[in-house]
Amino acid sequence: MRYAEPETVEEGVTLLASTEHSRCIAGGATLVAMMNAGHIAPAMLVSLHRMRELFTLTESAEGLWIGAMTPHRVVAAETRLRGSMGVVRSAAGQLAHPSIRNMGTIGGSVCLADPSTEMPVALVAASARVEIAGPNGRRIVPIEDALVDRFKTSLGRGEIVTRILIPRGVEGAVGHHLRFSRVAGDYPTVSISLTLSMQGDRCVHARVVVGSCGPVPLHVTAADQRLIHSVLGEDDVAAAGQLLASAASPLDDVRGSAEYRRMLIPRLLGRALSQARELAHV
Ligand SMILES: Cc1cc2nc3c(=O)[nH]c(=O)nc-3n(C[C@H](O)[C@H](O)[C@H](O)COP(=O)(O)OP(=O)(O)OC[C@H]3O[C@@H](n4cnc5c(N)ncnc54)[C@H](O)[C@@H]3O)c2cc1C
Repeated sequence: MRYAEPETVEEGVTLLASTEHSRCIAGGATLVAMMNAGHIAPAMLVSLHRMRELFTLTESAEGLWIGAMTPHRVVAAETRLRGSMGVVRSAAGQLAHPSIRNMGTIGGSVCLADPSTEMPVALVAASARVEIAGPNGRRIVPIEDALVDRFKTSLGRGEIVTRILIPRGVEGAVGHHLRFSRVAGDYPTVSISLTLSMQGDRCVHARVVVGSCGPVPLHVTAADQRLIHSVLGEDDVAAAGQLLASAASPLDDVRGSAEYRRMLIPRLLGRALSQARELAHV
């Protein structure tokens, strides 16, 4: 196996594009485990560690651009992620355990596209956009277009995720992430990321996304619409939760059966909404 540590994204793209079965390595949290288990054997590993631009965080009028190589630990401590952007901070602070939060990066989470991980869920709730560099230059796509299936992204040969935009979102909204796992630090059985805005006791904005319940993060516009203009009473939450549960396509695995996961969705939604309201002080 060959290994390279290019200094620029452009060099990395050229190396990745010119070698069949090449992969880039970010934190290595999952990639190294997959190699050790014999699931993959790349012909070449292109490290992203020397590409300085991938470590930068830049504030703009639109929001915060987070370099792909930013570890979850840094995202979790980023105070500029406030308001509805806070959903990304909230997820980064809760996912996995400290060693994975130190190693794993936001870009690695996107490119892994593991349906049981939480960062993609929070990024969909935040309506994030992803910048991708490749042999034909750079493009920016909504996060939903980057995540296409279980462990599958829309990235082509030679492409690298360079940074992720977390837009400022709706004025006055809050963001929150809630996970349910068998034991602390385990992958979640179900997770929910949401952004929420209230006017008095009425909901004026809601965007709810469910994780670990399908090949990609589950977002159902009808469920958001069921919550908007409501007082988020028991019936409203149950109806929105039911819409999400019916649209979900969870797997049976050691962390819970499909039926159990569907049952959890409305309950977790109720808890996530009430915690978000506390953050919004309404
Ligand atoms: C024991 C364990 C427990 C975990 N628990 C959780 C959990 O509870 N919740 C959760 O959300 N996640 C969990 N994770 C997943 C963790 O979040 C990811 O492993 C991590 O974020 C991936 O980032 P990385 O930088 O280590 O990527 P790597 O492992 O280096 O790479 C992952 C994949 O993405 C590709 N890649 C990485 N960066 C880029 C880039 N910028 N552009 C293009 N391709 C790229 C690599 O080629 C590889 O295919 C867990 C992982 C482990 C190992």
